[in-house]
Amino acid sequence: MFLNGKSAIVTGASRGIGRAIALKLAQSGASVMINYVSNARAAEEVQDQILAGGGRAAVFKADVSSYDEAQKLVSAGAAEFGGVDILVNNAGITRDNLLLRMKEEDWDAVLTVNLKGAFNTTRAVMKPMLKARWGRIIAVSSIIGLRGNAGQANYAAAKAGLIGFTKSVAREVGSRGITANAIAPGFISTEMTGKLSETVKQKMLSEIPLGRFGEPDDIANLACFLAGDAAGYITGQVIAVDGGLAI
Ligand code: NAP
Repeated sequence: MFLNGKSAIVTGASRGIGRAIALKLAQSGASVMINYVSNARAAEEVQDQILAGGGRAAVFKADVSSYDEAQKLVSAGAAEFGGVDILVNNAGITRDNLLLRMKEEDWDAVLTVNLKGAFNTTRAVMKPMLKARWGRIIAVSSIIGLRGNAGQANYAAAKAGLIGFTKSVAREVGSRGITANAIAPGFISTEMTGKLSETVKQKMLSEIPLGRFGEPDDIANLACFLAGDAAGYITGQVIAVDGGLAI
C-alpha cells in the first residue's frame, strides 16, 4: 500500500490499459478518479471493483479533448479526494489510414484526444501539484511515437508529441518535486488492438522477442512504480514496455 494517502486521476480508465492502471493504483492504496467519455457502465464496474476491494474511487465523465471538461475533471478529483497527486494521461483513440486517404477530421480527432487532451489535464493539475510540491505525471505514449508506423501518421505524431510535451513538463516542474514520464507500450491486448486483422496480429507477434502480446497489467505495473516515491529520481524518461518489439 505504498500509495496510501495519494489521490490519482486516470483518463480513459473505463477500459483496457487505463482500467488496469486504475485498479492497480487503488490496490496500492491510492484514491482513484476513473475518467471515461462514453462508457459509463464500464467505468462504474471499475469503481465497483475498487470499492469491493476496500479502496476509494469515483467516476467522472469528461471528454479530455475539451479544455473545459478537463478542468472540471481535475476540479472534481481535487474536491473528492482533497488534491491530485498523480495524473495518468492515458485516454487515446486511433483513426488509422494511409496518409493519402487520411481525412482531416481523423487527423484532428487523434491529435485532439491523444495530445491536446494531455495538455488540458496537465495544465489543470499544475496548480495543486505545485502547491503540494509533489506530483507524478505519467503519459501513456506508444512505441509508434518513437518508430512511426505506416497507416498511423496521425497517431504517431500525437504520441511523439506527447513525449516532447512530457519531457518539457519534466524540465519545467522538476524543481518542485514533480516528475513527468512517458510509457511507450508495444502491442497490448485491448479493444484498441482487438480490431486489427489476424494477419497483422500474427506479423506483429513474430516480431516480439518475448513471444507474446502484452497485457494491460504489464503497463499498469510500470505506471504504479512511476507513481510512487521509489521512482522519485526518474523524470523526463520514455520507457518502452513492449516485449522487446522496438529493440
Ligand atoms: P481502449 O481499450 O480503446 O480504451 C480507450 C479508453 O480511452 C477508454 O476508457 C475510453 O473511454 C477512453 N477515451 C477515449 N476517448 C476519450 C476522450 N476523448 N476523453 C476521455 N476518455 C477517452 O484503448 P487502450 O488500448 O486501453 O489504450 C489506452 C492508451 O494506451 C491509449 O492512449 C493508447 O493510444 C495507448 N496505447 C495502446 C496500445 C495497445 O496496444 N493497446 C499500445 C500503445 C499505446 P470510453 O470507454 O468511455 O470510450
